[in-house]
Amino acid sequence: MEIYLDANATTPVLDAARSAALSAMAEDFGNPSSIHSTGLKARALIDRVRSQASRLLGAGNGRLLFLSGATEGIQTAVLSALHALRARRAAGDTTAELLLYGATEHKAVPEALKHWNELLGLGLQVVAIPVGLDGRHDLIWLKAHAPRAGLVCTMAANNETGVVSDLDGIEAALAGSTCFWLVDGVQALGKLPLRLAERRIDYAPFSGHKLYAPKGIGLLYVREGAPFTPLMAGGGQEGALRSGTENMSGIAALGAVLEALEDGKSFRDHATLLRFRDQLAAALQQAFPGLVFNAPLDQCLPTTLNFSVPGLASRLLLDLFDAAELRVSGGSACSAAKAQPSFVLQAMGLPDEQTASAVRMSFGPAAEEAFIVEACERIRVCGETLRENCLAPAGNQALAGDGITRFLVDGECGWLLADAASRRCIVIDPPAALADRLAQQLRCQGYPLVAVLQTGPQSEGAEALRAAVPELLAEETGEAWALGRQTLRRLTLGEGRCAYLLDQRVAFAGRATAAELGNAVLPATLLAPAIDTDNRIASTPSSALARTAGPAPSLDPAALQALLREHPEALVIDVREPFEQRLGQAPTLETAVRIEAMPISRLLNALPAWLAMPAEQPIVFFCRSGNRSQVAAQLLQRLGHERAYSLAGGLALWPQRAAVVDPALYV
Ligand code: PLP
Repeated sequence: MEIYLDANATTPVLDAARSAALSAMAEDFGNPSSIHSTGLKARALIDRVRSQASRLLGAGNGRLLFLSGATEGIQTAVLSALHALRARRAAGDTTAELLLYGATEHKAVPEALKHWNELLGLGLQVVAIPVGLDGRHDLIWLKAHAPRAGLVCTMAANNETGVVSDLDGIEAALAGSTCFWLVDGVQALGKLPLRLAERRIDYAPFSGHKLYAPKGIGLLYVREGAPFTPLMAGGGQEGALRSGTENMSGIAALGAVLEALEDGKSFRDHATLLRFRDQLAAALQQAFPGLVFNAPLDQCLPTTLNFSVPGLASRLLLDLFDAAELRVSGGSACSAAKAQPSFVLQAMGLPDEQTASAVRMSFGPAAEEAFIVEACERIRVCGETLRENCLAPAGNQALAGDGITRFLVDGECGWLLADAASRRCIVIDPPAALADRLAQQLRCQGYPLVAVLQTGPQSEGAEALRAAVPELLAEETGEAWALGRQTLRRLTLGEGRCAYLLDQRVAFAGRATAAELGNAVLPATLLAPAIDTDNRIASTPSSALARTAGPAPSLDPAALQALLREHPEALVIDVREPFEQRLGQAPTLETAVRIEAMPISRLLNALPAWLAMPAEQPIVFFCRSGNRSQVAAQLLQRLGHERAYSLAGGLALWPQRAAVVDPALYV
C-alpha cells in the first residue's frame, strides 16, 4: 500500500468530492448561465459553494471568484494591482517604485510580477523580501521598504517548509503604505483560520487540489473596493470578472470539501494534526540519528515537516522512501525534476550541506491515525535498511562484500574488488568525489585494503581514500595481487598509464582502448573503463568492433507476461540497488520464473554467465522507472545477446505488485 506523504504537492480527491463532481457531470450538468431549470440548478450550486467559501474564509463583503487554480488567481491579482498602479502613476502619483515578494514565495508570484510588470510597461523594481533562518519575513526590512512599495506579496504558509507567516506583523509593517497586499493562501486552506476581511489583504488565491478537490479549480478572494481587472474577457461569467463557462464539476467537488471542513467530522482538529506530526518527527529522529528540522516546528503548519540528514543526499533519501512506497519530495513539485537545491532553504540561509539533503514530508488534514502509524513503521524500516546496506552516515552494520562493485559519479568510475573468502579488497580509480562513500563501504566490510590503484597519473581520489581509511590500509607493492582464487595484474601502457587484468576475465582499462590492450586481452574480456559518461558500463574487444546498438526493446506488463508464457526459461533480473530490493515490491508474474537480484552497480559480476546463455533465451531487466533496466538491456545487446529487454516504465507502472519482496522469489 502506498503511503502518500506529499500533500503539499497535491492531494487525492475526497470521496464526497468525487461523488459531487460525478453528479455535476452526469445529472446536474447544466450551464449556470442557462435560464431553464437545469441551468438554475447549476447556478444554485455555484451560489451555495461561494457562500460556504465566504463563511469559511471570513471573506465578509469581499468577492470570491472561481477560477482554474492559484496560478490563475495570482495572475489575476497581480494584473489587477499593476493595472491600478499604472492608473495611479498616470494621475501623477509616483510613490510606487517597488514590487515586493517574500524570498520563499511560490515561483508563480515572482514570475507573475516580472511578467505583468514588463507587459504593462511599468518598469518597477521587483525585489525579494529577505527571510530569516526561521523562514519568516524580515519585518524591519519590510517596514523600511513598504512606503515605496506598490504591491507586496507574502504567502500565508510556505509550501516547502510549512513556515506560517506572521500576517499581523506584516500588516503592521505595511501601516501607512498605499501598497496593495496579496496573500497566497494555498497551503493555509483547511489548516489555519484566515479571517480575510479582518485584515487589509486585497487579494488571496487558493487552490482546490491542495485540499482534496480536483486539479483545475481554485478561488480568488478580492477585498471589497480593491481594484480588479479581468484576466479573461468573454461571455461575462462570474459577473464579467472571469469569463468562461464555469468548471461545475470542480466547483461541486470544492463545495463537498468545504462542507466537510464545516461539518467538523472529516478533518482532524489542530491538536490531532500536531500529535500526528510529532509522531512522524519522533519516528524520523529515531530512524535517522543526526536528523535536523529545517524550520522551527512551532512556527510551521502542523502538516508539514522539512528535514535533512547531514551526510545523506536528498536523492538517496527520496529513493529510499520511494522504495518503501512512502511518497515524499525534495521540495516543491514544480522543481522536483530539476535536482537543484531548494531556493527556499537557500533564502533562509541554511548551509549547503543541509539544503543538499532536504526532504519534505506533508500530509493532509484528513489523515487517519492508522495511516500515521504505518508511515512511522515504514520510516523505522527505512532507517534500518540504510544501516544494513552501509548507507547511513553512522551506525552501519557489517557487510560481507564480494565481487566487483562500480562507483560512478559524473561519468567517473571507480571499482571496488572484494573477496569474501580471503577477506581482501582492492580499489581501482576511486573518484575523489566518492572517497567518503567508498571509505564508508570499506569500513562496513572491514577487509584489509591491499591496493589502491590508478590507471592514469591522477591520484587525487586515491590519496583521499587512503587518508580516509588509514586503519584498513595494508598495501602490497608489486605488479600482481591475489584476490581469492583470482589474480589482478598490472599491464603497463606508457605515459604513466596502465590497466589491470583480473585473470583475463575483466580488464580495468582506464582510458585505454581495446587496441592498446592488444594481446593481453581476449575477444570476450570485459573492459571496465575509468570514464563512462554514457553509462555504458563495459565493453569487450569484440563488441567494440560491432555496430552500435540502439535502445533495447521495452516490454509493457502484458508483453512481459506473454513473453514469459512463451519462454518460461527466461531470466528476470531486478537491477535496483540492494536497499531498494529489500524495501520494495516485486512484480507479480503469472508464470513461475525466477527473479535474480543484480544491482546495476554490480552487473559486471553476472555478465560472463549471461553472455554464455543460449542466444534464444530471453533476459528481461526491471527497475523502478525503466531507466536502469534500459541501460542493462542495451549493454547485453551491445555485448552480443540480442534477446535482452527492459520493462517499460519499471515497477512504477506495474499493475500489481507483491506486498513486499519475498526473498524466496529471488535467487
Ligand atoms: N502557491 C503555493 C504556495 C503553492 O503551493 C502552489 C502549488 O504548488 C501554487 C501557488 C500554485 O497552485 P496551482 O497548482 O493551483 O496553480
